Amino acid sequence: MARNLSPLAAEPLPSLDARALVEKQRAYFETRVTLPLEWRREQLRALERVARKYEAEILAALKADLSKSAEEAYLTEVGSIYGEVKNALKNVKGWMKPRSGSAPIVIQPARAYQYLEPLGVTLVIAPWNYPYQLAIAPLIGALAAGCTAVLKPSELSPATSSVLAKMLGEAFPPEVVSVVEGGVAESQALLAERWDLIFFTGGTQVGRVVAEAAAKHLTPTILELGGKSPCIVDKSADLEVTARRIAWGKYVNAGQTCIAPDYVLIPSELKGRFTELVRKAVTDFYGADARTSGDYGRIVSARHFERVSALASHGTVAFGGERDAASRYFSPTVITDAPLSSPLMQEEIFGPLLPLVDCPSVEDAIRFVRSRPKPLALYSFARDAAVNERVLAETSSGGAVTNDVCVHFAAEGLPFGGVGESGLGGYHGQSSFDAFSHKKSVVKRPFALDMKLRYPPYGGKLNLF
Ligand code: NAD
Repeated sequence: MARNLSPLAAEPLPSLDARALVEKQRAYFETRVTLPLEWRREQLRALERVARKYEAEILAALKADLSKSAEEAYLTEVGSIYGEVKNALKNVKGWMKPRSGSAPIVIQPARAYQYLEPLGVTLVIAPWNYPYQLAIAPLIGALAAGCTAVLKPSELSPATSSVLAKMLGEAFPPEVVSVVEGGVAESQALLAERWDLIFFTGGTQVGRVVAEAAAKHLTPTILELGGKSPCIVDKSADLEVTARRIAWGKYVNAGQTCIAPDYVLIPSELKGRFTELVRKAVTDFYGADARTSGDYGRIVSARHFERVSALASHGTVAFGGERDAASRYFSPTVITDAPLSSPLMQEEIFGPLLPLVDCPSVEDAIRFVRSRPKPLALYSFARDAAVNERVLAETSSGGAVTNDVCVHFAAEGLPFGGVGESGLGGYHGQSSFDAFSHKKSVVKRPFALDMKLRYPPYGGKLNLF
């Protein structure tokens, strides 16, 4: 297993030989040993074993990297991995079976199928915000599908990166799973190689870099990106529940969640009460001073702390705004009246700032959302179900939830992913298996009934069409 922690290096450490790593995995893949069900189940069992063995170290690493409480880390990272791996172990046999399709009359007699074949040697690049979950979940798909994988965790969550390297190094030989620790230089060295799939989770900007690198080899990509996920609050919404749910989704992990509500579109007459209800929810969650709560996270790095602080300078702070650079604490904050052209309303916030945007009607909210890049998630709050249906029908987003936030991530039967600038492709559950598989179209024909109609000389035979 390559271990390569050099986050600030412009060049990858000399110990990283990306080409040799890919070749080693490819040689192994070419033996076809990864094809049988039993190989796949063995890898998934090995992953589950090592995940349970290292659970305490993972929780400690998430605390060190992001100040995540053990409860939150279990809820949002560790627990969902157990669920994913259990689901894959239970269902991989069924997922591998050829899927029947229909064969039209013109090619009869025939049977049509999709054969699911592993794509091969894959690269998984992970971000720092849920550094365990977002590294392991794609790996489950890769192994279930019979692929090998190289995982590049984020350099901004070094404690988790180090535990991932240790536990996966213990569970797998490098030809099955390798972890390459490091930053941009290591990532780019890996991206220069030819892969059979690149699975990237991170920001839209870096997503473009990945797509460009993949284009060179015509490598397929799954891009799990970010963006500004809006909340639309209708006059008919239960404002108290709405505020509590939005506050939870916004401030969990100190706002550093790809599907966090980014901003709220709300009629101006509801703004004051909504702000008070968010303040009450925050106090209920984290006490009068979130700084002293063991359940409130910290901003990942000094650079991101500066970035979030700069974003908070736009508009009016309705509550919150307290910060401490030394501990990278930024309190839960609500902002009003931010100019729509300001960075706060143009860039993904990725921090605990919740801007409220005056929006008189759902129609205006829909127009607003449609005028911007398609978001990763969209949340619509209304007691009137027709309003929510209208929002769903008239907007496009990677995923959507009505009357809540973020919970679609936990629905493993649904593909999770973005659309447009928020991403390409999806995963979770069977979709993870599918993401790492090629669906080969197969038609099976008997030798019998060899209709002469299609063979030349046509001589008017086809006039009947
Ligand atoms: P990032 O794009 O900065 O980094 C992601 C990974 O790419 C890291 O491993 C990093 O080392 C690598 N990387 C960074 N710059 C690179 C470059 N120039 N060339 C090659 N590799 C490079 O993202 P991040 O800051 O780690 O995560 C935050 C972003 O990720 C947010 O935009 C968030 O919305 C998004 N995100 C999306 C999802 C999702 O499921 N859609 C989940 C979590 C985070």
